[in-house]
Amino acid sequence: MFQVPRGTRDFTPDEMQKRRYLEQNMATTFTSFGYGEIQTPTFENLELFTAKSGESIINELYTFTDKGGRALALRPELTAPVIRCYVERLQMEPKPLKLFYFGNCYRYDRPQKGRYREFQQAGCEVIGTGTCEATAELLALAYTLLKNTGLKNIRLNIGNLTIISAIFKKLRLLKDDQKILLPLIDKSQFDDLKIALRDCNVSEEMIDTFLEVLQTSDITKIRSFISEDTDAKTELTTMETILNLLKNAFHINEYEIKLSIVRGLDYYKGLVFEIDAPVLGAEKQLCGGGSYDLIPLFGGTEVPTSGFAIGFDRTILALEEEMFLFPALKLDVFVIPVNETMNTTAIQIVQELRGHGISADFDQLRRGMGKSLKYADAKHAEKVIIVGPKELENKTVTLRDMKTGTQEIVALADIYTKLKKI
Ligand code: AMP
Repeated sequence: MFQVPRGTRDFTPDEMQKRRYLEQNMATTFTSFGYGEIQTPTFENLELFTAKSGESIINELYTFTDKGGRALALRPELTAPVIRCYVERLQMEPKPLKLFYFGNCYRYDRPQKGRYREFQQAGCEVIGTGTCEATAELLALAYTLLKNTGLKNIRLNIGNLTIISAIFKKLRLLKDDQKILLPLIDKSQFDDLKIALRDCNVSEEMIDTFLEVLQTSDITKIRSFISEDTDAKTELTTMETILNLLKNAFHINEYEIKLSIVRGLDYYKGLVFEIDAPVLGAEKQLCGGGSYDLIPLFGGTEVPTSGFAIGFDRTILALEEEMFLFPALKLDVFVIPVNETMNTTAIQIVQELRGHGISADFDQLRRGMGKSLKYADAKHAEKVIIVGPKELENKTVTLRDMKTGTQEIVALADIYTKLKKI
């Protein structure tokens, strides 16, 4: 009769087990890099998102007016909310401030595999430093986070918007032209880009060199193309320092310089990056990030900021595609009373086990031994305790190993220490 709203999903206990595994795994990596967790509200004042992206973003948002007449929006991402919180409450904190988050995001997208209207992001923001070592660490963190989840095949691509802007300047492209060209660059639609550049009266020779520079990872080639622009030359040298640190200090060699990574010019600047999982096909982008400016727009004192967001759902899809073995939902012990008079003792045992930090459950349907064992198996119980009157007279129970099927009589007094060891 009722179905989940379009673009949203329910998560069953088995699916939640995977999500909790991933969350814990990522939180461990974030904290190992010195980050602290932050949480912000699911909805914000609409203006928080239009301030940076303009009114056109409203088409992609879930917006509503509350009973007090306030214009609100479900957050489409967490960078703007985290920076709002920083400006409101955290400006006096010692720098750099390293914040990570997990949060549901909402976008009025066209749903498909890996693209939902409600999805989760895991991400972080570094506030108060823009040094090469901080940027190198940010790249290393994004890469390490995804590697630590168990993913095997990921690609880190690094671009630079300062350099792209310098190239636009060199090609004498106007702001309006750039708005048309950037999405084509972002999607690597180079044939369409060529046509669009011709429409902007760029010479054939320049078009060919530009397309080559967009697709090369050779810094020398990029340097010769931007040689007249001092800002871009300095930026390229900075990028080289960052990449040297990434390689020699963080020991990450698997990356590619790709100037076609542009991520939209509206608030990113300088270095930007993306991480893909090729196994995902069309929606393969797992992570996007870079340095950006938002603090002054939100009324705070300007300090350097950078960060990234990882598509949590896509990371799970990529792990599944790679046949990653997620830790299964399991139960340590299932207790079966052989008849109703054994119920109280069975429950007492379960409660005692739970008190000792052992996960335990018991038969609540008064079924026969065969069916109870089947249920225990379905719940991935490692052990079963059978409580029978004869054994109980001798203060013992039967302990069954569900993997091997072997059974032994164990003294009740020893059961907790025995299970704890396991
Ligand atoms: P963005 O905030 O657009 O840079 O997105 C960061 C990451 O979030 C992307 O690389 C995706 O992995 C993920 N993502 C973005 N939009 C969606 C969506 N509609 N459904 C699922 N994941 C998404």
